[in-house]
Amino acid sequence: MSRDVTLDGVTMRFGDFTAVKNVSLEIRAGEFFSFLGPSGCGKTTILRMVSGFMDPTAGRVLIGGQDMRGIGPNKRPTALIFQNLALFPMMTVAENIAFGLEMRGVAREARRKRAQELLELIALPDAADKRIDELSGGMKQRVAIARALAVEPQVMLLDEPLSALDLKLRQHMRAELRAIQRRTGLTFIYITHDQGEALTMSDRVGVMSRGQLEQVGAPADIYDEPASAFVAGFVGENNVFPGTIAAVSGAEARIDTVAGPLLARNPRGFGVGAKVLVSVRPERMKPVDGVEGPNRLSRPVDHVDFEGSFANVFLKPIEGGGKPILMQLSNDGCLAHIGEDSIFTVAFAPQDALVLGAEGTD
Ligand code: ATP
Repeated sequence: MSRDVTLDGVTMRFGDFTAVKNVSLEIRAGEFFSFLGPSGCGKTTILRMVSGFMDPTAGRVLIGGQDMRGIGPNKRPTALIFQNLALFPMMTVAENIAFGLEMRGVAREARRKRAQELLELIALPDAADKRIDELSGGMKQRVAIARALAVEPQVMLLDEPLSALDLKLRQHMRAELRAIQRRTGLTFIYITHDQGEALTMSDRVGVMSRGQLEQVGAPADIYDEPASAFVAGFVGENNVFPGTIAAVSGAEARIDTVAGPLLARNPRGFGVGAKVLVSVRPERMKPVDGVEGPNRLSRPVDHVDFEGSFANVFLKPIEGGGKPILMQLSNDGCLAHIGEDSIFTVAFAPQDALVLGAEGTD
């Protein structure tokens, strides 16, 4: 059975420092929910409050509607998995998985049976008698998950569990974790600073910055409709053009920017005179012929990073305008012909440009 988790105005202070500020959120039963944010933004502190290793200084954590204040980690229906898996090297895989059951006095035969069921679930059916040091990093990861599942938690809490693995394995384990979550139907709360992990695995993502929840949404919403310049910049690459709103027409605005006047979507309704940022994803910038038309920029190439299936083409920054402009081109066979210092004219549709509050005003 899985449970919903509610954070109701949760705050955690350490002395004068507020690590988590007034976070309210409902995580649904059976949902894969990720907290995404840079180091130190308070993700682990939230997980500690859900698991019961800390109680919030203000606000409440509810699991399945029940207020968890004063209920210790062992009494909560949660299981926690860290990056450091803490498997017991002297025990076999099956003994590791069954450890929590043994602590609870479950009989040997029943333990063995449950361990075998979990080994099937994690797709290691023949690993029961292997030693931990005979396993690869990814196998250890799966065993740690099986061990956590053995005690039948209703909510799984995962704190950057893949960060010690190499890139290929990490990508493979994303799919594995997602599959295990689907098969068990449990609520997974996952913590990561890796936007790729959060976007690929989650039903919903909560983006955090400095102890606060900046935005909660499905991966595509977070990426395509970021609520702030912080979210836009943290979840993927973006080009940012600072400027001032010159005119508003319906849901669109004209912004005077360092790159000239730009047309962009203005869903947050900034008014004329507002200092804003125009954000454009690199894959929405298209090379075009001719300089006439809205949202066009002509810039020399600064450098090209060839990535195989696509290339990141960096155009020289606009004078006084900060960073190089990034355009992402898929590899259609012509990428090799992009010379450094060739001049590109790029354009983007107004619906592919988003007006966001200038930092600190949103
Ligand atoms: P990371 O990915 O680096 O673990 P995080 O987002 O998980 O970062 P937290 O570990 O939740 O961040 O820490 C948030 C802030 O709270 C940090 O500035 C940290 O130094 C501080 N902090 C965490 N635990 C304590 C504590 N027990 N006492 C004092 N400060 C703490």
